[in-house]
Amino acid sequence: MRFSTRAIHAGQEADPTTGATIVPIYQTSTYTQEAVGKHKGFDYSRTINPTRLALERQLAALEGARFCSAFASGMAAAAAVASLLSPGDHVLIGEDVYGGTYRFFSQIVARYGIAVTYTDMRVLDGVRAALRPSTRMIWLETPTNPLLSLADIAAIAALRADHAPQAVMVVDNTFATPYFQQPLALGAQIVVHSTTKYIGGHSDVVGGAAITDDAALHERIAFYQNSAGGVPGPHDAWLTMRGAKTLAVRMREHARNAQAIAEFLERHPAVERVHYPGLPSHPQHDLARRQMRGFGGMVSFALRGTAEEAMEFARSLRYFSLAESLGGVESLICHPARMTHGSIPRDQRERRGITDTLLRLSVGIEDVEDLLEDLRTALDHLSTTAVRSMHPSSTAPM
Ligand SMILES: *Cc1c(COP(=O)(O)O)cnc(C)c1O
Repeated sequence: MRFSTRAIHAGQEADPTTGATIVPIYQTSTYTQEAVGKHKGFDYSRTINPTRLALERQLAALEGARFCSAFASGMAAAAAVASLLSPGDHVLIGEDVYGGTYRFFSQIVARYGIAVTYTDMRVLDGVRAALRPSTRMIWLETPTNPLLSLADIAAIAALRADHAPQAVMVVDNTFATPYFQQPLALGAQIVVHSTTKYIGGHSDVVGGAAITDDAALHERIAFYQNSAGGVPGPHDAWLTMRGAKTLAVRMREHARNAQAIAEFLERHPAVERVHYPGLPSHPQHDLARRQMRGFGGMVSFALRGTAEEAMEFARSLRYFSLAESLGGVESLICHPARMTHGSIPRDQRERRGITDTLLRLSVGIEDVEDLLEDLRTALDHLSTTAVRSMHPSSTAPM
């Protein structure tokens, strides 16, 4: 089965009791047994639920894996994967991972006697140097948020195999989605997702998943899932599953619109710099072409001007809602320095390129002409005022 077919058919058999073509929302906590211990494989919904099971089979298939555990959020999935660690272990993490992941590892995992260190996953020598005999986990995101820089999954997997074979490599594949990037095929052992984003795809449900092709790892993650209990309810599992069926068509549109917008922004005089892996100017464009089947729907860019102008620009758009989160069919804009990355100290933030004029777009699947027109109107307004303030006598529009 190929990707789009898997998205629609994997785990989606007709309901055995009624023939319902669509997997029902099994809104039940428990299951009636014929005799003590004699049941149809379902006993209690924290442990197993048919709707959640269908979602897990679908998501495993999308990553080309056999196993998936679904969770109530992306962070709950991350916590389940982190439960593979024990006191004395070391975990090496990409320095620009999702803020919630950074907070979880630095403020919670580190309290359990686990050494947590961060490194720039773009620098392979640095990754190699940071590995220790006690390293049990390597955790990275690619592309990253909000600057869309990439880590070479296959190269880091090779470093793991040569220098830290005892470690598992985890890739948070939320930004690229399995449609554009398959980390397990590149040598990672576990993929985690915030299904809240592209997989759900409609900004209406929070969820997460941990996916692996390794039976022993899956057993431990599933044991934690049942023991700690951070599972999605059947209605949320069903919404996520419905969203995931259209992942392929949505991702093609997200990427097509994002490419057009990135190219437009790169040409505009009011824009200082554009970050998008699909642009030849992206410093890792060649890696993106090697490792990804498409470049995704996230674009960030720095405006020429002040922080106030950047915030005013973000507020003035018509179709891009000013909001955190990403991956829905509707376009969003955010100001990372004051929103998603506001808790990072300013000097550290600026050193990483998250300046006060940086804006991040989650490009939706609206008609791209409307999105371009919206951006053009706001940018032209900005550059006219910028030119006037630089050359008070100039009246030429840019
Ligand atoms: C949103 C996000 C998470 C956290 O997921 P939740 O569903 O919000 O718990 C983790 N990683 C990335 C890359 C994200 O964008």
